[in-house]
Parts: sequence; structure tokens; C-alpha cells
Amino acid sequence: MIMMGQISFLWFRKERFALRRRPDFTRWTECLLDLLFPPRCAGCASSGSLLCPVCLGAIARLQEQRCSRCALPSHGPTCRRCRFSGSSLFALQAVALYEEPLRSCIHRLKYQGHTRLAQPLGNMLASCYRRYHLRADFVVAVPLHPERERQRGYNHARLLADVCAHELGLPCAHSLLQRVRVTAAQAGLSISERQQNVIGAFYCQPQGRDLSLPGSTVLLIDDVCTTGATLEACATALLQRGAATVQALVLAIPG
Ligand SMILES: [Zn+2]
Ligand SMILES: [Zn+2]
Repeated sequence: MIMMGQISFLWFRKERFALRRRPDFTRWTECLLDLLFPPRCAGCASSGSLLCPVCLGAIARLQEQRCSRCALPSHGPTCRRCRFSGSSLFALQAVALYEEPLRSCIHRLKYQGHTRLAQPLGNMLASCYRRYHLRADFVVAVPLHPERERQRGYNHARLLADVCAHELGLPCAHSLLQRVRVTAAQAGLSISERQQNVIGAFYCQPQGRDLSLPGSTVLLIDDVCTTGATLEACATALLQRGAATVQALVLAIPG
């Protein structure tokens, strides 16, 4: 009799295998693995898909008018705070509020190895990009520190960015931005503590493999934006090395 722990281990290996799949990894192999280990919806745990149509439909996109630079509710295109602040971000848009079932989806993608959730979630980012008429030359994910990425095995923001960029036909330039300092988790910190926490945490090199940063418009991708401190620090590093404009796109912002 196979114990639950062994089933969990095999499931985790399956997801990692899918994550590392080669370009010739065939669809039928993935289908076979799904037959052996049926996926469960991240929102309601129903069997058959990673995110069922009901939960997908329950992720309501933001309706009321929002500030184009911080995504908070606003009476005009730009809120009062952003009109008088010197933000490095030219634009910030979010798919939805950080509520269920999106909260569980992000948690599973980020902490529980459900890497294939990046596909539907990345597609949502691409839809949001089109809805708000964003324009970018290439896509960059908010980087993890290499040590943290090694521990987790992947950077969830990069998985999201890769799907989003592929859907939009944009190139990725993740190597331009690196996290050079391990930072404490932002959760639980005040706004000023969050800003302090990420100062100097990112380094930008202006030349990628096939891409040049100077004069370009960058689309930054992350899962959640709470105060914007991390995105702001990334944008500052990119602008200092010659980016013309930095826009940010996230899955969720706090309600
Ligand atoms: Zn569901
Ligand atoms: Zn604003």
C-alpha cells in the first residue's frame, strides 16, 4: 500500500519533471502523468484541472477606476499621492484583488511547487496587459536571490513572466536584473521598513544576451504588490542603467 507521503513525493517529482521538461517533452507524457496523478483545482480542490472554470471565473478582474501608477482606487487616471510623488514606475496594473481563489493559487505556485499554475496565471497577466494597453519592449521578472531560488528550485515570478511574454510575443530579459542581497520577507513590515529592506537589493546590468536596456520600455512582473517597495527598487535600478520607462504588472494587490 502506497502511503500518502510517498504519493505527495511522487506528485512533487512529477511537477518538478514538468518544470524541467525539454522542448521535446511530449504532450502525451504529461497526459499520462495527469492520469496517474490527477491535478486538483487550487481554488476548490475538485479533481481534473489545476484551476477549474468555476474558480477561474471567480477571479474577478478589477472593476472600479484605479490609478494607473499604483493600481489603488482613484477618482481620476492618477491618484493624488502619485501625482505628487516621484515614483520610478510609470505604470502599475494588477489582475485582481488578493482574495480567494487567487490567493490560494499564488500560494500553491510560490510555496508548494504547483509550477504549472503559472500557465493560467501568466495568461491572466497577458490579458491584463492588453486590457490596459500597456506597451513594452521586453519582460523582466522580479528576481529572487540566487540562494533562495536554489532552495525553492525556481522563481515563481519568472515562470509567470515567461508565460506572459510568450502569450504576448515579447522577449524576456531576466538576466538584466539580479537580486544581490538577501532581504527579509516583506510581510509584516511597515511601509518605511519595506522600503529600507530593499534599498540596494537589486543590481542591473544594461546589456543582456540579445537585448540592450538603454532607451527601452521594460515590463516588470511579480505575483503580488503590497506597498510597491520591491517593484519601486527594481524600477529604480533599471532606470539608473538607462531604461526609458518601467511598467509593472502583478497578479494581485491587497483589497
Ligand atoms: Zn475550482
Ligand atoms: Zn496612485
